Amino acid sequence: MRATMIHGPGDIRLETVPDPQLTDDTDAIVRVVAACVCGSDLWPYRDATTGANGPQQIGHEFVGVVEQVGSSVEGVAVGDFVIAPFLYSDNTCTLCAKGVQSSCVNGGGYTGCQCELVRVPFADGTLVTVPGPVDEALVPHLLTLSDVFPTGHHAAVSARVGEGSTVVVVGDGAVGLSGVLAAKRLGASTVIAMSRHAARQEIARSFGADHVVEERGRDGARAVKEILGGIGADSVLECVGTKEAMKQAFQSLRPGGTVGYVGIPHGVELNMPVMFATNSGLAGGVAPVRSYLSELLPDVLDGSVRPGRVFDAHLALDDVAEAYRAMDERRATKVLLRP
Ligand SMILES: [Zn+2]
Repeated sequence: MRATMIHGPGDIRLETVPDPQLTDDTDAIVRVVAACVCGSDLWPYRDATTGANGPQQIGHEFVGVVEQVGSSVEGVAVGDFVIAPFLYSDNTCTLCAKGVQSSCVNGGGYTGCQCELVRVPFADGTLVTVPGPVDEALVPHLLTLSDVFPTGHHAAVSARVGEGSTVVVVGDGAVGLSGVLAAKRLGASTVIAMSRHAARQEIARSFGADHVVEERGRDGARAVKEILGGIGADSVLECVGTKEAMKQAFQSLRPGGTVGYVGIPHGVELNMPVMFATNSGLAGGVAPVRSYLSELLPDVLDGSVRPGRVFDAHLALDDVAEAYRAMDERRATKVLLRP
């Protein structure tokens, strides 16, 4: 099959590799219908300290059609259209039962998915079947359910967004934009998106952002407080992972509020004395996507949310190197790939 390999920073190649095989009787082999590039894929793409261990497959967000199942798989069948959460999980262990499938004792990540075929361990516990036939126009929206939309939702849930919440979203990547949509879906009364990028501001507004703040740092926090009557937000979604973004999140939070973070932390520092003095909460981490799908899928199927708008570029898998370049250079927010 054709598969995307990362050889080192900035070096993405589509190569031919052996087809994956069923290795355990709980596996499924899924033929990828659509995959995409994640903001987190850009870390090894940009950073010489990762991806330096020789060429390896990359990618973790995909939807597809089940092509083979192991002998003990019962919940999914050949021909099913499935959503693959970006981590696999057995969905039966004690931690899965607690809703943290991202920490499943038998869980893990795929070999890669920006390719044609993926071996999915624990198919019954991992894959979620979409009732067919699946409308082609729905595919981008379904694809967001493998990571980006549930991750934005996780930021909002972690930040305790509820009916009437005031919310600031730090980060205008696909996750931040998804956080805007998720916050509105959970009943936020006011959502402020922090963005300087015209095209992304437009997506944020289409997802329900009431305000856009372009300023950063103290000026950004001041602009937030002007909108919110002098105090910070009840909830801040930190969807970047940098030191500056986390600082921005706490500067934009009201005392007693909560930051929900889903950006992979890189050099983040916390000011615990200030957090203590202001009763500021912090929660979040790797989104347990599998636990959210039963809640989010129906809203995608009935069209009440259209999270696939984050894909502002669609490319063939053959053009995967260009997909990475476009996202790296911020010419695209998120690229959908078709094998
Ligand atoms: Zn588990």
